[in-house]
Amino acid sequence: MKFIEALKLRSKLFFLFLLITLGLIALGFIGTTYVNAMKKNMDSLYFGSLIPVSELNEIVQTYNYGLADTIYKLSRTEISPSEATSKIETSLNNINKKWKSYTSHFKTEDELEYLEYADLEVKHINDYFYKLLNAVKSAKNLRRISIHTLEKKIESIHYVLQKLINYEVNMANYERKKFLYAYDFILLKIGTSLGLIILGVLVILFYVFESIQKDQTRLEIAAKKLKIANKKLENASYTDSLTNLHNRRYFNFIYDREVKRAKRNKSYITFMMLDIDYFKQYNDTYGHVEGDYALKSVAKALKDKLKRPGDYVFRLGGEEFGVLLSDTDETNSANLARELCDAIRSREIKHEASKVNEFLTISVGVVCCIADEALDEEVLISRADEMLYEAKESGRDRYVITSNASKAKIA
Ligand code: GH3
Ligand code: MG
Ligand code: MG
Repeated sequence: MKFIEALKLRSKLFFLFLLITLGLIALGFIGTTYVNAMKKNMDSLYFGSLIPVSELNEIVQTYNYGLADTIYKLSRTEISPSEATSKIETSLNNINKKWKSYTSHFKTEDELEYLEYADLEVKHINDYFYKLLNAVKSAKNLRRISIHTLEKKIESIHYVLQKLINYEVNMANYERKKFLYAYDFILLKIGTSLGLIILGVLVILFYVFESIQKDQTRLEIAAKKLKIANKKLENASYTDSLTNLHNRRYFNFIYDREVKRAKRNKSYITFMMLDIDYFKQYNDTYGHVEGDYALKSVAKALKDKLKRPGDYVFRLGGEEFGVLLSDTDETNSANLARELCDAIRSREIKHEASKVNEFLTISVGVVCCIADEALDEEVLISRADEMLYEAKESGRDRYVITSNASKAKIA
């Protein structure tokens, strides 16, 4: 069943369809063949036995009631000679017709032998009745009709025909037995053929389904892998490769979402803009590689401080970072900004060229307000930028916070 495995899903389904169609055609063909065979058997039973028996019975009845009875009645003058003539003529014609029909049916060798004798007997008896007919027609010698001879003739033809009837009845019984046997045999053949076809179809179906299931499993695994790969790719596209913080792209996405949410809930939103002090000088003093290490160290310190689920920290570019907080009031935001400044300073990254401290420091611009419909997202960023500028201007290594566009506080 390797070839099934090799098929594509659509071909497998087509194969299934083909298989079921072929199975149905085979069933139809077998059914028709067997029904035809049954019909043949029924025909041979009907035409080979039932019709001959009924013809023979009719002949016997005609001899009895058409001929013998008429002669009796004539002899007792219960009917007229002309009436008797017509009845005898009709009966003899009937007998001839039926006998001709009977002898024309298919006969076995055994039957033919006896039939030759029976034919002679019928002709002989019929001759006797023709003679009687002539006598009746001429209305002469009517008194000489011997009832005894008539009875003997009738008895003899009865004997001959009864033998044929018995033979035909025996044949009918034999044919019936043959038919029943054939019927049972045909049933067995139909049952076996059906069983084999169904079994074959089921076996192939099993392999096709198994193969489809394997395909399905493979597809599911591939889909899962793809999902994971996509997730990784998405994460990569949202992550800053140097610091492993969220990047500006992610900031744009999250910032928009969080501000909208705060506006909906009319809750606090805090945005901080962070910038390393005299970082150009740091690079100049220690080199770019050391500068990168310092950026990583600052990122790590920020990450360690911002662990709440609603807190986000981003590297917005160069030595600039962004922090987004939700549901944090002005006091807590100011505390956190201070803690961030302390955390960086306490890392004690040596910065000889700094004019504010012997270690690396940051300045932070903070804007914290309750978001409402009037809040302009762009203003929130530019206000944080302004606060950062103020923090730089007022001596660095500090934060400046504002809760609205007109008021600013210096720490
Ligand atoms: P200020 O205190 O006013 O912020 O001064 P500053 O020197 O920090 O500011 P400025 O904007 O003049 O210089 C920023 C420097 O940051 C310039 C650049 O060399 C450095 N920088 C930006 N991105 C990177 C980076 O990925 N790696 C390293 N090592 N340095 C970077
Ligand atoms: Mg800068
Ligand atoms: Mg700077």
